[in-house]
Amino acid sequence: MTINKIMVIGAGQMGGGIAQVCAQAGYEVILNDIQEESFTKGLAVITKNLERNVEKERMSEEEKNQTLSRITKSLDLTDAKSVDLVIEAAVENMEVKRKIFAALDEIAPDHTILATNTSSLPITEIAAATKRPEKVIGMHFMNPVPVMKLVEIIRGLATTDEVYEVVETMTHQLSKVPVEVNDFPGFVANRVLMPMINEAVYTLYEGVATKEAIDEVMKLGMNHPMGPLQLADFIGLDTCLYIMETLHEGFGDSKYRPCPLLRKYVKAGWLGKKSGRGFYEYR
Ligand code: NAD
Repeated sequence: MTINKIMVIGAGQMGGGIAQVCAQAGYEVILNDIQEESFTKGLAVITKNLERNVEKERMSEEEKNQTLSRITKSLDLTDAKSVDLVIEAAVENMEVKRKIFAALDEIAPDHTILATNTSSLPITEIAAATKRPEKVIGMHFMNPVPVMKLVEIIRGLATTDEVYEVVETMTHQLSKVPVEVNDFPGFVANRVLMPMINEAVYTLYEGVATKEAIDEVMKLGMNHPMGPLQLADFIGLDTCLYIMETLHEGFGDSKYRPCPLLRKYVKAGWLGKKSGRGFYEYR
């Protein structure tokens, strides 16, 4: 099966990045969101990223324009009727994702593969909202998508080898590196990363050190490119909380309980870089 046309659902940090790399690789992309404003914001970020590539002579002006011309706007899920692959990158919430997948199952042609960029939610449960669980798969891109090479490819219980291979080949076309992972809460990346971030939040909550000191220890001591609290701000504190809740519920182990300070920040609307304030402030 050949992938020509892709729908990306959600024009936020991840969806925008996924749309950009797909368009750069030559795919026709329909970028869908429920809010016009999110699409406009997402497209502005893509345009800025591509302009930076032109400035740095990584691409020509013509390539930039061609890439942008491959991205079309959609505010209506029925636009999925003409695509070969959907990559869903809406909010990290099972109810929202199941609703989207159930609707897509009705709209998209039989051959269409339905992928989700979920960070932690069970692929098998999302797949069960459709009548084509064999064509549902996880494609977990890393943030920021245009920069990071890894894509965790997660097989749901029913995902076929053929679907896995199509998605693996397509990931190579995006100049990314696919890594095969099975369907357990948090997969590999977030099962290991998120408890570390949550522990850093506890360290702040218990007054062990300032946020700057915690980040400095992890940067200088562990050679991490950024500290865990700054990284949490970049990921989005709402997304971090959803992932911790998924790990907590999925494994039933108290070691995954989300830190109350993380909950408090999310309740306050301090979601990190995307909202202008998280552990740090952003202009
Ligand atoms: P975001 O908040 O930046 O963007 C989400 C977008 O989805 C928004 O534009 C919102 O308007 C849109 N949306 C919400 N409901 C929708 C619907 N029903 N239909 C269409 N669009 C809808 O979030 P994000 O950081 O881009 O995360 C998106 C997904 O990617 C989540 O599942 C998250 O777990 C996953 N993810 C995030 C990261 C990260 O570092 N932020 C990394 C890997 C995976």
